[in-house]
Amino acid sequence: MAAKPRIVILTGAGVSAESGVPTFRGSDGLWEGHRIEDVATPRAFERNPALVQTFYNQRRAALKNVQPNAAHLALAELEKALGERHVTLITQNVDDLHDRAGSQNLMHMHGELLKARCVVCENVCHWDEDIQPTSPCPFCQRTGTLRPHIVWFGEMPLYMEEIETALYGADLFVAIGTSGKVYPAAGFVRLAKAAGAHTIEFNLERSDISPEFKEHRIGPAGHLVPTWVEEVIQAHP
Ligand code: NAD
Repeated sequence: MAAKPRIVILTGAGVSAESGVPTFRGSDGLWEGHRIEDVATPRAFERNPALVQTFYNQRRAALKNVQPNAAHLALAELEKALGERHVTLITQNVDDLHDRAGSQNLMHMHGELLKARCVVCENVCHWDEDIQPTSPCPFCQRTGTLRPHIVWFGEMPLYMEEIETALYGADLFVAIGTSGKVYPAAGFVRLAKAAGAHTIEFNLERSDISPEFKEHRIGPAGHLVPTWVEEVIQAHP
């Protein structure tokens, strides 16, 4: 029996597409009809906080109508089979579908819709309703200070140290449903390759970073990922 590999998986909006969560860069290049400059930058929040809060309130509310799909469930199954130490899941997604599928060793590098952060006391808390101008911060009790716990363009992604450590220790790096347009996530494949990892890309089509990968599997994640997970589990019973 071969030694269990250390697998690092990066997921993007494409892994949630079959659950009914729209991707970011569909054919129109907009996120649910909005330009990123209008809803996903610190400047946008300064300029029009009401628009930005409404946008994320709607995304948060929409989570109530979606469920994890076969790809999310298979990734949780992989972790259960190989153990948390062998499977690290990094997601760019702000939805909670990996969490609900049961993944434990999971890092939301771009934040989470179901969390809010106080811009004054900087505490982060679970938040599953709308953020209103009257919502008090549960820690410092100030009102009007909560923002979505989302990493906007121009802000520093979360867990970067832990992610780099995982990438440098990876035997296998897998990217699922990501366009490779957002850095630093788009550069992870290079770090993993430098550490000697084999690399696989799963996507409906070739992405901007496809040439960096050794192996490509083209098709919907909900079909490809369970097949691949079964292969890995069978090779490492
Ligand atoms: P993206 O929208 O830029 O790209 C999605 C990629 O997924 C594309 O390459 C597309 O070909 C592929 N894809 C679409 N459907 C697929 C399927 N069924 N199976 C396999 N692949 C599929 O997404 P990104 O690279 O993650 O970057 C977008 C940014 O926007 C992220 O940082 C994220 O925070 C944010 N975002 C998050 C969500 C979410 O939480 N679900 C949704 C939209 C945007």
